[in-house]
Amino acid sequence: MQKGIKFRIYPNREQQNIIHQTLGCCRLIYNKGLAMRNEAYQNGNKVGYPQTSAMLTGLKKQDDFAFLKAVDSIALQQSLRDLDRGFVNFFQKRAGHPQFKSKHNRHQSYRTINQRGNIRIVGKYIKLPKLGYVKVRQSMEVCKINHVTIEHTPTGKYFAIVNVKFEPQPKMNQGGTIGIDVGIKEFYSDSNGNVVSNPKYLEQSMGKLIREQRKLSRKEKGSSNRNKQRVKVALVHEKITNQRNDFLQKQSTMLIRENQTICIEDLKVKNMMRNHKLAQHISSASWSKFFDMLLYKSVWYGKKVVKVPTMYPSSQTCSCCGYKNPLVKNLAIRKWECPECHMRHDRDTNASVNILSKGLQMQSA
Ligand SMILES: [Zn+2]
Repeated sequence: MQKGIKFRIYPNREQQNIIHQTLGCCRLIYNKGLAMRNEAYQNGNKVGYPQTSAMLTGLKKQDDFAFLKAVDSIALQQSLRDLDRGFVNFFQKRAGHPQFKSKHNRHQSYRTINQRGNIRIVGKYIKLPKLGYVKVRQSMEVCKINHVTIEHTPTGKYFAIVNVKFEPQPKMNQGGTIGIDVGIKEFYSDSNGNVVSNPKYLEQSMGKLIREQRKLSRKEKGSSNRNKQRVKVALVHEKITNQRNDFLQKQSTMLIRENQTICIEDLKVKNMMRNHKLAQHISSASWSKFFDMLLYKSVWYGKKVVKVPTMYPSSQTCSCCGYKNPLVKNLAIRKWECPECHMRHDRDTNASVNILSKGLQMQSA
């Protein structure tokens, strides 16, 4: 098994320059590889990773591209691997066609691989190819390092995400089962009747984000005030991401610890009712992140996550008698009584009970 550990790093001025050079070179190579593959496609030729890799080797021999030799060569190769994976995902219809990378893209990163221990953590430093020893905020014992992603955020911070091998300890429990219904008003409702709300601090930050973004939209394009405001927005964004991840980590760990089987909804159901409101946009991003965490933790700790398919009407079905009540389609209806068996339902709890029984039914089928 593997997992990523994120370290805030503090490169000195010289190291920062090398990081930005590497980011620039990786972007250049990625874009050149993409252009090469696009052109080959138009001419009916097949070009894959080996041809783009040969292109990189060729470029390095040219005087005009001698600057490529100054940066981490593994990182350059990885950008072509990433491109290749982008195409695989595209062909398998998991993603759109790879796009050219712009230097104006605010999230910038490159990846490099540990080879013969050239990446390691030593005291309060992480040793990285071409950069040498870079200061880290907190040190941590890690066993085998697979690869590292170096990231420069829109707020000007640097991070190293270290992918390591690790052995998860199985988490024992009573074999409980639970159904989860994620929502906008509350974060989720479960089949035991519990409701987990979004934490207050997260709601407050979201309100702040909406206000700061409104201010940004009023600033004149290209003005220095607009740039200052953009950094402000990025800082609130970053804060929300951190607060949200922290919350999601705790919630997913708790669910995995207490249950053997967790039934969730296929997210497309929710995406269908997506609108462009920011709060909702953040909610849907949280759901997929949350489900990702549940999925990988279930693999780590030997638990089961069952996805209930898209078209199952979990909100409209009475969890007692199975009667389907089309009136509940209206999202404003929070509580309803089943016209058949007269059971009184809370909308979301009822949905999560249905998700649980559907999931268990699918699992035993
Ligand atoms: Zn009923």
